[in-house]
Amino acid sequence: MESAVRTYCRRFPAVFTRASGHRMWDEQGREYMDFLSGAGALNYGHNPPEVRAAVVDYLLADGPVHGLDLHTTAKAAFLERFQDVVLAPRAMEYRVQFTGPTGTNAIEAAFKTARRVTGRTEIVAFTGGFHGLSLGALAASATAFKRNAAGVPLSHVTRMPYEGFPGEDVDTINYLTRLLDDPGSGVDLPAAFVVETVQGEGGLSAASPSWLRRLAEVARERNILLIVDDIQAGCGRTGTFFSFEEAGITPDLVCLSKSISGFGLPMALVLVRPELDQLGPGEHSGTFRGNNLAFVTATACLDYWADPAFGKRVQEHTDCLTGLLEELAVRYEQLGCRVHGRGLIRGLAFADDTLADRVSRTAFEKGLLVETSGARGQVLKIMPPIVTGEDELRRGIAILADSIASAAAEGHAQ
Ligand SMILES: *Cc1c(COP(=O)(O)O)cnc(C)c1O
Repeated sequence: MESAVRTYCRRFPAVFTRASGHRMWDEQGREYMDFLSGAGALNYGHNPPEVRAAVVDYLLADGPVHGLDLHTTAKAAFLERFQDVVLAPRAMEYRVQFTGPTGTNAIEAAFKTARRVTGRTEIVAFTGGFHGLSLGALAASATAFKRNAAGVPLSHVTRMPYEGFPGEDVDTINYLTRLLDDPGSGVDLPAAFVVETVQGEGGLSAASPSWLRRLAEVARERNILLIVDDIQAGCGRTGTFFSFEEAGITPDLVCLSKSISGFGLPMALVLVRPELDQLGPGEHSGTFRGNNLAFVTATACLDYWADPAFGKRVQEHTDCLTGLLEELAVRYEQLGCRVHGRGLIRGLAFADDTLADRVSRTAFEKGLLVETSGARGQVLKIMPPIVTGEDELRRGIAILADSIASAAAEGHAQ
C-alpha cells in the first residue's frame, strides 16, 4: 500500500518491533546496531529511559498533547530550561520561534524573516547544501535529483561554492566576496547566507572554523543575515550543543529540528536575534507548532546538557570515533579511504564511488545500520547516537571494517 516515494525502508528492509539506545530489533528478533540515528533525530538513542519516563508521566497526568501555540506549562518549562541551559551560559540572546514541526518548515520561516528584515529576495546557499524539500528550502538544497522533483522553477537562491568544493587551492570566501562586491558580477546582494557547518546530506563535507568566521564577517560587513542550518549538525552532533561553537560565531538565525525533541518526536524552531523578530502574529503559523510531548522530551534532554560531565562524555565519544575511523582509513588506504565530517557526524569516502552503497548494504546484512550521503550516495555516513560508549563504537566499527572488506572483495570478484 505504501507509496513508491519511500526510501530508507528499501535500504533496510526489516520490520522493526523494538528499539533501545543504539540497538533495534526486527520481528525475527534479529538485533541491529543503529549508526543511522534517525538521520540525526535520535542523538540520545532510542527511548532514553529518563526522557521516556517524563513523557509517560505527562501523558498519565492528562497533560495537553496538542496545543496550537497556546501557552502550556510544558512549553514554558522548555523555554525556561533552554534559556538556562543553552542560551544563558553561551551569552546568547535569541527569541524562540516555534514553526511547523519539520526542519524544512524552520528553514522557510528563517528565509521569510531574512527577506522581511532586509527587503531583499535572494538567499545565498552553498554547493552540497541540504535544507529540506518544501519549495523555498528546496531551492536552497543542492542535489539535482531532489530539485528535479519540484515541478516548478526553483528561484531566488544564488549558489556559491562551499569550502573545498572547487579544490583545496581555491579560496571560496574570496570568490564569494568578489562576486558580491563587483557591480558587474551579476550577483545581487542577498538577504541571507544559509549554511551547514557539516553537510549531513552533502557527503559530510565540513567547513573549517576559520572559513565560518570569514563567512560571518562577510555577512556582517554587508548587512547580510547569517542563517546556520543546525538541523542535523546541532544538538550535540559535533560534540558541542551547537555545531558553530568552535568557530565562535553568533548567527543571526539558527534552525534546529531533528534532535531538539531528543526522542524522535516532531519539533522545530528558529532562534532569532530579538531585533530581527519581525514576522507578525500568524504570518508563519501552523497547526502542529505546539507538540507538547516534544516540549516535554526536549526539556528532559536539556537535563543531560545541564551536567558538564555529559558534554565531556560526548567529547570522549567523539575522540574515540575519530580514532577508530582514522585507523580504518589507514587500513583501507588501498581503497582510497578518507574520513569526512566532524564530531559524531562522519563520513568515509572511497576512490570507487559505488563502494559506499555496497558497504551499507553489506553492513545491514551483518546487523549494522549505516546509510550513504552525497548526491551520488558516494560517502558512507557514520552517525551513532552521541551517547554510544567506546565498547559499542568499537563493535560497530569492527562490523563496518568487515563490511568494507567484503564489499571491496565482491567488487573485485565481479
Ligand atoms: C533533515 C534536514 C532538513 C530538513 O528537515 P525535515 O524535517 O526533513 O524537513 C534541513 N536541513 C538539514 C541540514 C537537514 O539535515
